[in-house]
Amino acid sequence: MTSVLTQQHPVVVVGGGIGGVAMALALGRQGHRVQLLEQADQIGAIGYGVQMGPNVMPMLDELGVGAAVRAAAYFPKDILLYDYLTGQTLSHIPLQTTEFAQRYQSQPYLAIHRVDMHELLLKACEKYPHISLNQSTTVTGYTQTNDAVSLHTAQGETIPAVAVVACDGLRSRLRAQMRPDDVPRESGYVAHRSLIPMDQAPAEVQQRQSVTMWAGPGLHVIYYPLRKASLLNIVLVVQLPAHVSSTQDHGYLDYLQQLLAQAQPEAQQVARLVNVERRWAIADREPMRQWHDGRVCLLGDAAHATLQSLAQGAGMAIEDVVCLTQGIQQHGTDVSSAFKAFERARFLRTARVQWVSRQLWEDFHCDGVQAQVRSEIFSQRNVDDQYRCLDWLWTPQTLAS
Ligand SMILES: Cc1cc2nc3c(=O)[nH]c(=O)nc-3n(C[C@H](O)[C@H](O)[C@H](O)COP(=O)(O)OP(=O)(O)OC[C@H]3O[C@@H](n4cnc5c(N)ncnc54)[C@H](O)[C@@H]3O)c2cc1C
Repeated sequence: MTSVLTQQHPVVVVGGGIGGVAMALALGRQGHRVQLLEQADQIGAIGYGVQMGPNVMPMLDELGVGAAVRAAAYFPKDILLYDYLTGQTLSHIPLQTTEFAQRYQSQPYLAIHRVDMHELLLKACEKYPHISLNQSTTVTGYTQTNDAVSLHTAQGETIPAVAVVACDGLRSRLRAQMRPDDVPRESGYVAHRSLIPMDQAPAEVQQRQSVTMWAGPGLHVIYYPLRKASLLNIVLVVQLPAHVSSTQDHGYLDYLQQLLAQAQPEAQQVARLVNVERRWAIADREPMRQWHDGRVCLLGDAAHATLQSLAQGAGMAIEDVVCLTQGIQQHGTDVSSAFKAFERARFLRTARVQWVSRQLWEDFHCDGVQAQVRSEIFSQRNVDDQYRCLDWLWTPQTLAS
């Protein structure tokens, strides 16, 4: 096999999110020359929590950062889902039982601060002098021949590459160039995120060691501890009402107050701790079979952005990284074949995450009779049923597959 490294130009990774930095690290560990381009002036500055299922840890081990992730992570005891209107427990998934360990090969379910995750990935990159990380560089598009590809930046540079891995997220510019007709599917919901010191959380929340979620019509709120339970990570997701165009409107705040007034006391108390000034519009993508165009390939959210119902967008990006790196290892300088093999290996799994996440989103937010039916179905599932619903996702993949 001829390494891409032997060629004149580097592999360029666009985007310094979790997918991009992990990709740069994986390629660097394989010996490839890598240049990462990130538009922000600091890589990995957005700091909230991220959960990772037991399928993700073997991938992190493969990237050489498993031990560092374990040291920085919080390991919740269970996942609890409640109906915010009635307080009914809709599902309870234990994460630290013997059964869980046997089922998922002793791999943990964890939560980690994104800043910690980025720092440990960046630190790992530092060991490889042939990885160069460039901030404040916004890629605007690419041009390519059979043998090479050039990236163009808003700063007026043209950057040559032997191949490009586009990890530029949900609103990927490189995906827009590949498929101008394909746009994100807006959900109509926005997310507000906050991290608060645990000692400012309500007393009953401080006792919890879970990922706790309250869901119902128009909103859900989810929270879990981070950094040895010194912090509480909270995400409040709200459906924007038709008459409100901005979350800064008084109309929005009034609407939110009305929604929250119906919620169970704990859900209300935690939701009211969230800073609603900052928001993220929630969207996903339709599954798309082809993620590459010649020497340019999409990865992570750029390829298959999903709603966060299964908390697996970052996990899928990390699985992608390991799979694509294996493909590049196998196909050497034939990057197009490596990209095709990558798409074949990853398409169905990521499409399933996208579809199941949409179904769950509906389950979280439904109302009336639909909610009653949902609650009956959920209440009939025992713990084993819950695991069986998640086995396809959580069972660690063999690295050769
Ligand atoms: C509220 C919420 C909660 C979530 N919770 C979880 C969870 O618990 N577990 C989980 O696994 N996933 C979760 N996700 C999903 C997860 O955040 C994403 O799937 C993951 O971050 C995708 O990583 P990425 O590297 O593909 O893209 P991103 O993280 O979006 O990174 C893209 C990067 O590219 C940069 N960029 C964009 N355009 C350009 C350009 N033109 N030039 C240069 N740089 C560019 C951006 O600045 C950014 O740094 C959640 C998402 C949301 C919204």
